[in-house]
Amino acid sequence: MAELEELDGCELDFSESLTVEDDVEALLVPAGEEEDEEESEGDAAGPAMGDRGIAKRLRKAGLKVREVDGWKTRGRDFAGAAAAFNPKGSVNHHTGTPESVPGNAPTLGVLIKGRSDLNGPLANVYQTRNDTILVIAAGTTNHAGLPDGGEIRGMHGNSQAYGLEIEHAGSSPLPDKRLRIAARVHAALLLGRDLPARQVVQHREWAPSRKFDLASNFGTLTSKETNAQACNKFRAMVDEEFRKLKK
Ligand SMILES: [Zn+2]
Repeated sequence: MAELEELDGCELDFSESLTVEDDVEALLVPAGEEEDEEESEGDAAGPAMGDRGIAKRLRKAGLKVREVDGWKTRGRDFAGAAAAFNPKGSVNHHTGTPESVPGNAPTLGVLIKGRSDLNGPLANVYQTRNDTILVIAAGTTNHAGLPDGGEIRGMHGNSQAYGLEIEHAGSSPLPDKRLRIAARVHAALLLGRDLPARQVVQHREWAPSRKFDLASNFGTLTSKETNAQACNKFRAMVDEEFRKLKK
């Protein structure tokens, strides 16, 4: 068997990004033509691949959702390059796209296809600048890479974590409204596997030596203690969203 990938791809290189809104629309399932799919446990042909209930759960959570064409069969595991997707939690990211890059979804092209040096997809879901949630992949994606702070809440790599990329420069705090939407996305993702809010981590918790996303979301992070508080505050926010969704 070929060596499996464990790569991460945020703070992206935008040379291959899409910036034209028409191009983005061409990559999406036309609005109103989405087909919801029930959670599948697999059949005689083998276990189900990927999580094909993502879009349905996000919509049910009241989010503005669009599906990227082909998402139900997209993933590094579908390509035979990663372990089968078996999420135990999720990781929160920002793209690091400079604010000078125009468009609502400037990173979508890279998140789907990857770059010449990094295979896509690079996230399961993408929160655009206007907070539309684009569903990119049902399977394993190259978003988090190997944890370098040890084991992260029992997760060991990309095949064990959903990845959300938020379109955000990372140089200023993410507004509370956008953060709340991200928390709701994580809650909807984890609901599919009946996982608790404590299984949501920031990329900087996962890989503290090389990543700082999601940055600045609860003020400056001047100490390890402050960092832990900020990460816990986000998990509490996810938990609040869980309670709303379960009502
Ligand atoms: Zn990241």
